[in-house]
Amino acid sequence: MSNIFEIQNLKCSYKKGTVQDSDIVLEISNLSIQEGKIDFIVGPSGIGKSTILETLGFMNNTIASADVFKFQNDDVKNLWLKNDSEKSEFRNQNFSFIFQDNNLMQNFTAYENVMATALIQGVERKKAEEMTLLALKDMGLDYKADGPVYHYSGGERQRLAFARAILPDFKVLFGDEPTGNLDAKSADRLMKVLIDAVKKRNASAIIVSHDLKLSINYADMIIRIKKIERNSDENGHKSYYGFIDEHQVYTKGENGFWSCCDAKIEQKELFDKLVNEL
Ligand code: ADP
Ligand code: MG
Repeated sequence: MSNIFEIQNLKCSYKKGTVQDSDIVLEISNLSIQEGKIDFIVGPSGIGKSTILETLGFMNNTIASADVFKFQNDDVKNLWLKNDSEKSEFRNQNFSFIFQDNNLMQNFTAYENVMATALIQGVERKKAEEMTLLALKDMGLDYKADGPVYHYSGGERQRLAFARAILPDFKVLFGDEPTGNLDAKSADRLMKVLIDAVKKRNASAIIVSHDLKLSINYADMIIRIKKIERNSDENGHKSYYGFIDEHQVYTKGENGFWSCCDAKIEQKELFDKLVNEL
């Protein structure tokens, strides 16, 4: 099985120009993400979960330095040097995104909301209609495709945002707390539908969630961003950054066991370990 992402010694910062060590918000010493899998990213608040999605999804240029940054075996470290249209084409061809605030057009119907995404992406009309119907069906919303969105419940709206995200062809779906504003039962149901849709397309998903039960249930792999404390600055202020290496990556195995490097860990133990860090 090949890797969709391969990263070595990546440092991420929001600072432009000269970057000091204290400007680094996330460091990834080593990370390989396999194709066709469901990966969850967990970690305490402010540690770099959104940053890793922005970086892998080329939403924001946070790359301060990197030894290796490969997408599907291609070196993409220098993608940011390309012009805007090349970058957005790369994004459109490969990625889809879903966020907690779903940005739907409230006065439009479900059908129109989803269809608009396809048309904006340059899909030809007839094909866009087919894709829209399929995406709505996948999310179980085809029965009310003609109702205005402001008539929808919170769960239905989020499902609609999911329908929009799975509509285009993509290799990786990025989700930043996509079920964050739903109750546990709806979140679980929706996550299942989303993951089925991703698997049906032979795509991958990289999802940030603070819901550890959901993560353990649905992940093939969990990436835990570790909090590292820096030395205090001259005013005695402490600061932190996020860190990932192979010891922070847990792969689901058989019979409730997970593996990390060469070690095996029982699911309950993993859950407790993750709870302790959040
Ligand atoms: P999380 O998603 O885990 O809560 P983030 O990835 O949003 O954390 O943030 C990681 C760190 O980067 C935080 O210290 C945050 O303040 C900083 N950060 C996030 N986005 C920006 C930005 N656009 N500009 C500057 N700093 C940012
Ligand atoms: Mg975040």
